[in-house]
Amino acid sequence: MTVSTVARTKYEAVIGLEVHLQLLTKTKIFCSCSTHFGDPPNSNVCPVCLGLPGALPVLNQDGVTMAIKAALALNCAINTRSRFARKNYFYPDLPKGYQISQFDEPVAVDGWVEIEVDNHRKRIGVTRVHMEEDAGKSIHEGFPDSDRNSYIDLNRSGVPLIEIVSEPDLRSPDEAFEYLTRLKTLLQYLDVSNCNMEEGSLRCDANVSVRLAGATELGVKTEVKNLNSFRFLHKALAYEIDRQIDVLEGGGTIHQETRLWDSREQRTYGMRSKEFAHDYRYFPEPDLLPLVITDEWKARVRKSLPELPDARRERFISEYALPEYDASQLTLSRAVADYFEDVIKVSVEPKLAANWVLSELMHLLNEAGREITDSPVTAPHLAELLQLIAKATVSGKMAKDILAEMFSTGKTAGALVSEKGLAQITDADQITTVARQIIAANPKQVEQYRSGKTATLGWFVGQVMKATRGQANPQMLQELLKKELD
Ligand code: ADP
Ligand code: ZN
Ligand code: MG
Repeated sequence: MTVSTVARTKYEAVIGLEVHLQLLTKTKIFCSCSTHFGDPPNSNVCPVCLGLPGALPVLNQDGVTMAIKAALALNCAINTRSRFARKNYFYPDLPKGYQISQFDEPVAVDGWVEIEVDNHRKRIGVTRVHMEEDAGKSIHEGFPDSDRNSYIDLNRSGVPLIEIVSEPDLRSPDEAFEYLTRLKTLLQYLDVSNCNMEEGSLRCDANVSVRLAGATELGVKTEVKNLNSFRFLHKALAYEIDRQIDVLEGGGTIHQETRLWDSREQRTYGMRSKEFAHDYRYFPEPDLLPLVITDEWKARVRKSLPELPDARRERFISEYALPEYDASQLTLSRAVADYFEDVIKVSVEPKLAANWVLSELMHLLNEAGREITDSPVTAPHLAELLQLIAKATVSGKMAKDILAEMFSTGKTAGALVSEKGLAQITDADQITTVARQIIAANPKQVEQYRSGKTATLGWFVGQVMKATRGQANPQMLQELLKKELD
């Protein structure tokens, strides 16, 4: 499939995302079983989440509080009264034969998320936020060989989820990627979900259609599932947009259907068409009362909201005079922003701290595959190192090596500097003495320098550095050498 650039510019893509997030409650949504990830299969189960006849659900209030928290941060209106409904379908990992979800009366509606793409900001509408329980997990072994086995783990059955449905306001894979990134940042800030795609605590289905540029009616959409990473979301959308344009340009029509992303083949393929779409036969859940969220409850949750990423970014710019880019990067994750603020608390210049957190420390963390919350170099320890740089006790270059060693040994900067006698030499007499020795030993280079080849100065700097094991203060060295040579 090759879609020409000309064909592409004739069309506009329209995208809406449905995002499922697992809430960070300790127990499941309708029973007191643990939600802990990675426990032995079927060890966190009871009559309620196994769907045994006669077992009755009891709503987890912490889950509701988290849903309200998310909805408020998404600028939604919280419904005073909402209702759970049964969504009926058969699936081996859904023992009850229905999922308790919300249908026509969700927890919250009408919100928005602000995204920024190519330097312009745009609000993406949030249609609704509703609560539901997760299903269990089927594990297939040996597929597609003949001796395949399937297993069912019901630990996940009954884990609380919220689903966030966006308006069809996104116009490109980049915008969809950015929207999902913002959602993730926001929900992690709120501590309502860890948004871990690998563990399945963030799942995203993408709805996409194309229409002629300038058209006002929406085109027929397809829904793409099986998007296991942000990168796949981007690729699948780009593929699907081109596929639809290709069909339309060839005189065909798009059928409303569900398609799966195949990351190995880098394409989507049809799974089921809308004619076979489920009729879920939703009806109000008879075992649960309508959910009433009082103004008092809402107010309590609102008061508990932390400073949100956008506000924090703006504050970093105004309070610490950071460039917009640094402020955005630092506030992408609450943990990184917290770490940064812990560093500068110890009177370190903010821009210096931002540079070191965003480059050197991030680099070491990425290499080690560690999160900042579990950094071997604590914020006060990084602050100590940065103060040594500010006082010119160590050079920036030396500090990089020291940080790497702090990272691997857990020692402090002060300890490493005195242990290795690494302190930078800022004593002019000491530097001059070494400079004179080098000058005396290299008459040829001195001749070159004096005959006008001033670039030779760099060579002398290198020699003195070598002799001092890189510890001479570079600015002082330049000046002193020049003085001696001239
Ligand atoms: P369905 O009835 O198929 O579930 P909904 O109207 O509930 O569809 O919308 C589901 C998601 O699809 C929402 O995120 C919505 O923004 C998006 N969507 C709806 N229509 C379109 C369209 N024509 N093109 C792209 N996305 C769409
Ligand atoms: Zn249970
Ligand atoms: Mg729908």
